[in-house]
Amino acid sequence: MNFDIVIVGAGPSGLCFARALAGSGLRIAILERQPLTALAAPAFDGREIALTHHSARLLQALGIWQRIPPEAISPLRDARVLNGLSLYAMKIGHQDGGRDELGYLVSNYLIRKAAFEAVQDSPEITLLTDSAVASVSAGDDAVCLTLADGAMITAQLLVAADSRFSETRRAMGISADMHDFGRVMMVCAMEHEVPHQHVAWEWFDYGQTLALLPMNGMRSSVVVTMSAHEIQALTEMAAEDFNRAIEQRFQHRLGTMRLLSTRHAYPLVTVYPDRFIGKRFALIGDAAVGMHPVTAHGFNFGLRGADKLAAEIIEAQSCGRDIAAAALLRRYERAHRHATRPLFLATHAIAKLYSDDSPPARLLRAASLRIGNRITPFKRAVAQMLTEAR
Ligand SMILES: Cc1cc2nc3c(=O)[nH]c(=O)nc-3n(C[C@H](O)[C@H](O)[C@H](O)COP(=O)(O)OP(=O)(O)OC[C@H]3O[C@@H](n4cnc5c(N)ncnc54)[C@H](O)[C@@H]3O)c2cc1C
Repeated sequence: MNFDIVIVGAGPSGLCFARALAGSGLRIAILERQPLTALAAPAFDGREIALTHHSARLLQALGIWQRIPPEAISPLRDARVLNGLSLYAMKIGHQDGGRDELGYLVSNYLIRKAAFEAVQDSPEITLLTDSAVASVSAGDDAVCLTLADGAMITAQLLVAADSRFSETRRAMGISADMHDFGRVMMVCAMEHEVPHQHVAWEWFDYGQTLALLPMNGMRSSVVVTMSAHEIQALTEMAAEDFNRAIEQRFQHRLGTMRLLSTRHAYPLVTVYPDRFIGKRFALIGDAAVGMHPVTAHGFNFGLRGADKLAAEIIEAQSCGRDIAAAALLRRYERAHRHATRPLFLATHAIAKLYSDDSPPARLLRAASLRIGNRITPFKRAVAQMLTEAR
């Protein structure tokens, strides 16, 4: 089989990248190890994705936003950051970002479903599901892949979108810095008595980090970060016990709470590779930048990278140039590193500081929040960075 571009991984990044290339005249294959049924009707995975204004615009341009039921898009008006036992909060308001809302919340499974449907509408994209790559090699003129069933595929460009633990990245010899925070994040949907007013909470408590992501109605996505064994106990608890335990962890600030969904646990491991590119090869999505979810930027970066790489490829294709030229790939890498590295490092520092409960760290945590709250240009910069309003 021969294609112009082969993408490994039909997650949200791989699907959006393929869709961004639709109509360019390029023949695209997506290799995915999951079955077609899992892509067509993805299961709820607990993740509520905070999307920036920039991401919403990109999804609209890809014809994906329109496929998400409007009632499933929740506005994220303001954000509040709390620390320890104090009631004092740093407030990031929508007006700091110059918009009616900071961004939007959409369930990950709905994004995946909408992206899959958009790709199904693009005849130049071939989905090869239940597929596993056995080996890859990149030559001067083409990339060759051998699949586990023995099938051979050649392409001009190979793109890995196969998660932060990308096997393709490793097969292409690209090393990555990985950091395991030694914590696990549990996510689920809950109903609660006190209205959330569409305000997100990030509460860096001692011994636990809690977050509340407001969904339409009296519902929120509840996020609890603790050690693996504490999270395991929480996920295995009977629903009634779980409800009482979460009410208590939120110090009853949301009144009575009730579990509405399955509970999902994600170990906190961040990844940043040494390079995003190789010969006729590029990384996108979490395979390129595996963010800590606390600043809610993983998929926003995934979309941004996919958009940049697709724009470079379409430009080269329309001028009859090589779509995998080294200079083109270097431009993508430079732009994506520039867009992601500062927030990746800042997120890492915030996550480390606010999970440190030692007395000096407690002082620094409280002081940073108060200073940040008083400096309007700082808050404005944070709001604009988080919402990508421009
Ligand atoms: C709890 C949580 C909350 C989050 N909240 C936010 C948020 O608010 N905002 C935000 O922007 N981001 C958020 N993220 C990050 C976001 O979910 C990810 O950035 C996004 O899902 C990455 O998409 P992806 O397509 O790159 O990778 P993935 O979603 O990991 O998909 C990878 C795909 O590749 C396939 N695959 C893997 N290996 C192979 C292989 N060898 N061969 C074939 N196929 C393969 C997998 O089956 C999968 O379909 C959050 C993440 C978590 C865990």
